[in-house]
Amino acid sequence: MPRIAYVNGRYITHADAAVHIEDRGYQFADGVYEVCEVARGFIVDMPRHLARLNRSLTELSIAWPVTRNVLPLILREVVNRNHVVNGLVYVQVTRGVASREFVFPSANVKPALVVTARKADPAAGAKRAETGIAVITVPENRWDRVDIKTVGLLPNVLAKQKAKEAGAQEAWFVDADGNVKEGGSSNAWIVNRDGVLVTRPAEHGILRGITRTTMFEVAARLGLKIEEREFSVAEAKAAREAFISSATTIAMPIVAIDGDPIANGHPGSITLSLRHAFFDIAEKSPA
Ligand code: PMP
Repeated sequence: MPRIAYVNGRYITHADAAVHIEDRGYQFADGVYEVCEVARGFIVDMPRHLARLNRSLTELSIAWPVTRNVLPLILREVVNRNHVVNGLVYVQVTRGVASREFVFPSANVKPALVVTARKADPAAGAKRAETGIAVITVPENRWDRVDIKTVGLLPNVLAKQKAKEAGAQEAWFVDADGNVKEGGSSNAWIVNRDGVLVTRPAEHGILRGITRTTMFEVAARLGLKIEEREFSVAEAKAAREAFISSATTIAMPIVAIDGDPIANGHPGSITLSLRHAFFDIAEKSPA
């Protein structure tokens, strides 16, 4: 059964799916994206992802490529045509195809829309959560609008590659004051000695993760307190627990930062309880 992608109005075989060489996403990273988790046949937190997509598009003055109520139908169609029960669906919108000029093309140029979906084995994530992951820290070197979910991800690519070469699974960007910002593709959290969750405010300087937002509701349901404030690498290393959140990892325990073990070097129980409660709280749209 071949994989199917949606490209600008057509459902085509994944292997044949292509965009033009002068797509502004390809030439300028002039585009935005979303990744939604698909779990047990549901698209997780889809309205929140589409609201963030709307914000990203608005911030960059890119028009919606299709009307807003049509996009969920395309997402569902791509998930179903690929028989994805567990996995992810990826949405990318770029400013479109035009001859290479930095300034925006004429209003006649239509934004380009690509949607793909792929399967993932939920057992792999569960297994990883049993052992936890290691993170490294890297200096923040991105622009100051990382609150917009653009496809300009080169610093994230380099940071995550560096993590991989160090035997770690994520890299945390650290600001000039030594405070943790977020991961290359995740938000950063710690649990302090009193069992309070600490995560950096999302006004600017980080992406407001959808999983992060839903995690606030999960924490409330579990009776856990959250402090939204900056925390340093030193505080994280001395924390009771640390974890990352993202659509594809949910709450994933961290067991080492820059090679230093967190607490006893095993996944924390609060992180695991957040992970297990997540799907009861998250909004599930039928695919
Ligand atoms: N920060 C960055 C830089 C990311 O790329 C991601 C994943 N898209 C996140 C945070 C987590 O966001 P979400 O929970 O919406 O997946």
